[in-house]
Amino acid sequence: MTGEPAAQPLLQMALRVEQDIFVIRQRGREVAAVVGLEHQDQVRIATALSEVARDLLGMTGGADVTFHIDAGADGRHHLRADLAPVTPLPAGHYQPQSGAVSRLVDTLGVATVEGVTVVRMSRRVPANAPIPTPERLAEFRSELGRIAPASALDELTVQNGQLIAALDEVRSQRDELAVLNEELAETNRGVLALYNQLTEELEETNRGVVALYAELDEKSAQLRAASESKSRFLANVSHELRAPVTAIIGLGRLLTDSASDPLTDEQGDQVELIRSSAADLLNLVNELLDLAKAESGRIELDLSDVDLRPVFGQLRGTLRALATRPEVELVVEEPSTPALLRTDEVLLGQVLRNLLHNGLKFTERGEVRLRAHQQGDRWTFEVSDTGPGIAPELHDRIFEEFYQVPGATRVGGTGLGLPYARRLVTLLGGTLELTSEPGRGSTFHVSLPVGGA
Ligand code: ADP
Repeated sequence: MTGEPAAQPLLQMALRVEQDIFVIRQRGREVAAVVGLEHQDQVRIATALSEVARDLLGMTGGADVTFHIDAGADGRHHLRADLAPVTPLPAGHYQPQSGAVSRLVDTLGVATVEGVTVVRMSRRVPANAPIPTPERLAEFRSELGRIAPASALDELTVQNGQLIAALDEVRSQRDELAVLNEELAETNRGVLALYNQLTEELEETNRGVVALYAELDEKSAQLRAASESKSRFLANVSHELRAPVTAIIGLGRLLTDSASDPLTDEQGDQVELIRSSAADLLNLVNELLDLAKAESGRIELDLSDVDLRPVFGQLRGTLRALATRPEVELVVEEPSTPALLRTDEVLLGQVLRNLLHNGLKFTERGEVRLRAHQQGDRWTFEVSDTGPGIAPELHDRIFEEFYQVPGATRVGGTGLGLPYARRLVTLLGGTLELTSEPGRGSTFHVSLPVGGA
């Protein structure tokens, strides 16, 4: 560390005997006070001075002490004290900067100034202290000259006072620390209690969830069993029902046949009623049987490369008979080029027929339209109509067995068509979705993989 000595020191003193240490300490504090250091800093630099002075007195037999004000590189002023030993310092042996004293000041170290080795320390003057102009420095000097050096006893008294104040501060900090510690311990206890409580609650919840899952597993096993036995029951009953119902229809036809004995008009009406009721019943039985078969996985897929054009043509032909309302147009947009898809042609036909049939049933005016388009590896079929539409909250329900939108039942039906259609589409590896709003018609979207299920 090197540096230029200031022109004229603020104060100059000699360290030669033990008592001088007290005087240097006291004067150091006074210089610090005069240049504007705060009380704490005055005590700090004074303490650092007396410590270094004691070291030098022991090592070199004394020193000349000078105080200066420097303008620092940081634009602030520093109070600097140089202690120039009266005999040379043993080279490299004294390193005050490595001890605790160095924490009392901003800089502390051994410096060589114009070939003379000094111990130098400095402490920054606060920004709000008076700017040390040459006049002010002259004032500082004369002020310091006026303060008569006190005795070692006086300095000891002052030092004692400072020690007591420092002790008080330490004590109050210790008390504060104790309070903080107590608060921390309290908080810790609280956190621990909360943690224990949470852990318990979590365990409790876990136990509940485990129990719930066990119950769910049991319930779903029961449900599966119930659903299987329902399908079995439906398959058996439907089969048993079909034969007698077919017989009733056949017998009804015989009764009204021209080759049979003529019936009265009333008898004819009644037989007609029997026939149409039996036809409805057969329809229901057939749908039940279809659904039961699909649900029990007894439908075998017959996959082939299907061209959609003939399939659409056939649908147009069969459904035209059902499109009896002149206000409703059935539009089947047949693809113009071969449109190939690997699927089960019969099942696909059933799904589309079912959706188109619903459209025709529920639409009073406007149109029912079928179109298809390929996107990537999927074919999408859209069956749209200008019918009454379906409220969003019922979009799931209409795929439940036997569900019919209230008020829509007058057009007949069983509520089995859509669940069956969705089953078939799932079997074909696709999805059946609906977009619809009341008053805006309905569009059913069937999406199937090009390559088959
Ligand atoms: P079904 O037609 O035999 O009643 P579905 O399962 O095919 O049974 O349809 C269930 C219900 O969904 C129908 O009763 C009807 O209320 C409603 N629905 C189906 N398709 C349409 C449609 N295109 N427009 C309006 N409502 C429809």
